[in-house]
Amino acid sequence: MELISTSFQCNNHCIFCAQKGLSAEKFAKDENTLIQKTLEVVGRDSKIAFVGGEPTLHPGLMVAVSAAKEAGASHVLVQTNGRRLAYESFARSLKDAGVSALDISLQGSTPTMHDYHTQVSGSWAQTILGIKRARELGFTIGVSTVITRSNFRHLTEIARLAHHLGAKGFHLNLALPYGEAGKSWARVIPSAEMAGSHLEEAVNLSKNLGLSLLVLGRVFSEDTRDLFAGIGLYQPAEKGTVPFFQKKGTVPFSRPKPGLGERRGAPKTGAELQKLFPAIFTGAELPGGKPPSPVKK
Ligand code: SF4
Repeated sequence: MELISTSFQCNNHCIFCAQKGLSAEKFAKDENTLIQKTLEVVGRDSKIAFVGGEPTLHPGLMVAVSAAKEAGASHVLVQTNGRRLAYESFARSLKDAGVSALDISLQGSTPTMHDYHTQVSGSWAQTILGIKRARELGFTIGVSTVITRSNFRHLTEIARLAHHLGAKGFHLNLALPYGEAGKSWARVIPSAEMAGSHLEEAVNLSKNLGLSLLVLGRVFSEDTRDLFAGIGLYQPAEKGTVPFFQKKGTVPFSRPKPGLGERRGAPKTGAELQKLFPAIFTGAELPGGKPPSPVKK
């Protein structure tokens, strides 16, 4: 699938956004540039994907999609946070222009979880409504989730929600230490040791639900390739495996194990702790004086 970059502009401010601070050189600044870039890559029966930032904010998106269809594109995908799809007229225009599939980012199974990641209050409600509208209009939907320290325990819930909303595929990837996540990686990126079992559970559940999977850069079935942008770069997963999490030390960019990357003081003995925090042991400085003596039986 050929990728067409629209712009870095986005109406979310994700805590893991890898694009913050990148050069805008390869992006299309206006409608004409976007059409030109589109026609450069489109051929008969070609498959293309518009990516961002947030492509639905680009003023030239509709005309570029129409131009691609006229030039013979057989499959047009838009990678989006889904918020503008909550507006029915916008979603319908995208459909009429010729978009067939949407790769929609969903970072949580609840408003609090998702909105924490996007840093936009109300974004979960818009994205969920956007997915519903898109399904009603007949778009094929893939849902993409970035695994962070704040959602790794809820991956199965997100998979269930995606399936419930009518998604055909589920894409899971780790937050990478670039852009926003690069600034606060210790808060954002989970350790592989902790996230691994949750990921495995989500993969097994997704398989049972019949979702096409793209996990940490590996596809589990060929039909996944039409659901997510840039999938030509990915490799097939070995049958029945959870990629990368299988072997120790093969997880890219995960947090270091506790003790390797974090400095902790030498353990203290009871006597040393008593010296440091006498009030805890004697109760002398606690309100009400010493703690009550144990009741004698
Ligand atoms: S929706 Fe995508 S482009 Fe927008 S801030 Fe989040 S990660 Fe970045």
